[in-house]
Amino acid sequence: MPPYGEFIFGHEYAGDVVAVGSTVDEFRVGDRVVVEAHMGCRRCENCIRGHYTACLNYGNARRGHRANGFTTNGGLAEYALNHVNTLYGIPDGVSYEEATVVMTAGSPLFGLENAGGYFAGETVVVLGPGPIGLMTIQLAKALGATRVILTGTRASRLAMGRRLGADLVVNSKESDPVAAVLDLTGGKGADLVVDCAGGDETFDQAIHMAKPGGKLLLVAFYHGPVTADVSDAVRRNVTIYTERGEGGTSVGRCLALLGAGRITAKPLVTHQFPLARVREAMETLENRSGDPMKVVVNP
Ligand SMILES: [Zn+2]
Repeated sequence: MPPYGEFIFGHEYAGDVVAVGSTVDEFRVGDRVVVEAHMGCRRCENCIRGHYTACLNYGNARRGHRANGFTTNGGLAEYALNHVNTLYGIPDGVSYEEATVVMTAGSPLFGLENAGGYFAGETVVVLGPGPIGLMTIQLAKALGATRVILTGTRASRLAMGRRLGADLVVNSKESDPVAAVLDLTGGKGADLVVDCAGGDETFDQAIHMAKPGGKLLLVAFYHGPVTADVSDAVRRNVTIYTERGEGGTSVGRCLALLGAGRITAKPLVTHQFPLARVREAMETLENRSGDPMKVVVNP
């Protein structure tokens, strides 16, 4: 394993098995696989309890922790060595490109599971129609939510959210998203609010959108400290959940959902580049040119 900081990155990737270790009988050479980023150390108390994305030895390669593509060679390397417990076979009918995007679904699925994982007949609000938000809409539907409300600022993204299952969309530029959610829920608030936006105001908005006794799930990373009326959450008994990475083997289960057609990743792959044009791929994402969502580099 290369020393930390001396590796080829890329943590969302799929490929073919070209060699297996002597004890590996789960996969064969030629199998199509997708890689999960997190591999816990398998020796700390969190890993032993199954919480490997919150490994207490995170980043400590000496103690066996790996984050594929973060601390070891990842998807932009010609070959990458992965522990068998971070690989999942790609179902027939699912392309490499779609499989590459599956971690974008794995993270919110893990978060939704942390928040109970069962939303039959409930109303879920998703803030932020980025790739994670668009996956969250589909997953909330797959987990039984009857009404999903999406809030955001870009009309094209909100329209895509509609196509991917959002029942109602609110453009936060045009109307107050908190007032809109309260209005749409008869003043009650939503059963679950998921912040996939990570904006300066979205944590506060999410608190006020949740019903008394409701749930709030924070999936996004914020740019820095944010201000929110947390006392309102305390007063109204709103429970706040977080997620770290795609734990609980959620990547494998998202692949199954993809294979069964219950969620789709196709519309999220907006750009593809050959490996030789990797710089252009990075710049496309960096400069947001052509409204990219997921930019896939295909060797
Ligand atoms: Zn650990």
